[in-house]
Amino acid sequence: MQPLNAPNVYDAEPIPSAVQAEIERLLSSGDLFRYTAAAGAPVSLLESEFAEMLGSRYALAVSSCSAALFLSLKALDLPRDARVLIPAFTFAAVPSSVVHADCVPVLCEVGENYRIDIQDFAAKLDDTIQAVIISHMRGHTSDMDAIMALCDARDIPVIEDAAHSLGTTWDGRNIGTIGKIGCFSFQSYKLLNAGEGGILVTDDADLVARAVIMSGAYEHAWKKHDVAHDAMQRWQNKLPLYNLRLSNLSAAIVRAQLPEVPRRVRDGLRNHDHVAAKISTSRFIEVPEKLAPEERAPDSLQFNLVGLSKNQMLEFAQISAAMGVKVQIFGQSTDNARAFWNWEFLDVPDDLPQTRAMLMRACDVRLPARLTLAECDAVAGILLAALDKATVSKAA
Ligand SMILES: *Cc1c(COP(=O)(O)O)cnc(C)c1O
Repeated sequence: MQPLNAPNVYDAEPIPSAVQAEIERLLSSGDLFRYTAAAGAPVSLLESEFAEMLGSRYALAVSSCSAALFLSLKALDLPRDARVLIPAFTFAAVPSSVVHADCVPVLCEVGENYRIDIQDFAAKLDDTIQAVIISHMRGHTSDMDAIMALCDARDIPVIEDAAHSLGTTWDGRNIGTIGKIGCFSFQSYKLLNAGEGGILVTDDADLVARAVIMSGAYEHAWKKHDVAHDAMQRWQNKLPLYNLRLSNLSAAIVRAQLPEVPRRVRDGLRNHDHVAAKISTSRFIEVPEKLAPEERAPDSLQFNLVGLSKNQMLEFAQISAAMGVKVQIFGQSTDNARAFWNWEFLDVPDDLPQTRAMLMRACDVRLPARLTLAECDAVAGILLAALDKATVSKAA
């Protein structure tokens, strides 16, 4: 039953060939370490270009977004066992970065629109919370106005996990620049692909100075960063060196893709909205509305199944896969890293009924920006056909 037109949604886009001369230069000189060259290393250039693109004062490129989250928490100088409020719908890397920083994740509810439930967030933002990580999961932006007002009133620092949100704006502002620190990923499934890598942005000189040193700017390597030297001097020899640096090769690969960002954002959104409109015609599918101030940059589509039994949901996923489109229902497998009850390295909380209910019927479909509209039509057609079969064959 596999139709010929199911597109491949897994392959990344080719890396622009313009990078090949730079890669050749790095290979022939062996200049792969960011601190070897006196100035102008690809990692340093990436940092200044990325900061400029987002409109931030500082950027620090590191080995992953998880490393950026970890360094952000460390740079905030939180005491051991500090409680960090995070959404219960996120990737396992987020609570893991909190644990890695010797802090304790506290989970708040997420609604059926995949965004933080502000009422539960406000209730859990008590005097025991010392930092907040807002994870814009799958690029879905929570109400940043409400979150910043609540956190500013209590002077609680906000870290934005914008791993999957590059190019998204909130009220015209770049996601990742609204909180105190924003963290992005260069892992292959994100908008900029270096295989692995990450970057953090901030306007705070003291925070970035601490993060720069802890990322592995040993001795006076920090002189190769565009950060006020008095801030750096303050932290010389005072902090551990975790060595979470990015290599010049990775930075060169990311830099070559920076000019692609506007096109990827535009086409990703076009593809998302195209498929969302088509599948929303089914009474069994609900695609939640974005919040008004948000302009999205999606590379995947999430939707909720409405009125299906568990068997019908599983059959829908099975039939879609057989037809060439893989649908993950977040909560309907035993290993999904985005279902909080699978984070068994935590004391898994049992009191998040709203997030749990959402995860049990929320579907995840990859929809890369490089797909044509005809390929998007094929994806939508397969989803609708599979849904027809699943809902006809087994009356609930
Ligand atoms: C991918 C992702 C991460 C982790 O990024 P890495 O660079 O792989 O560490 C964290 N949070 C979200 C929302 C992500 O999508």
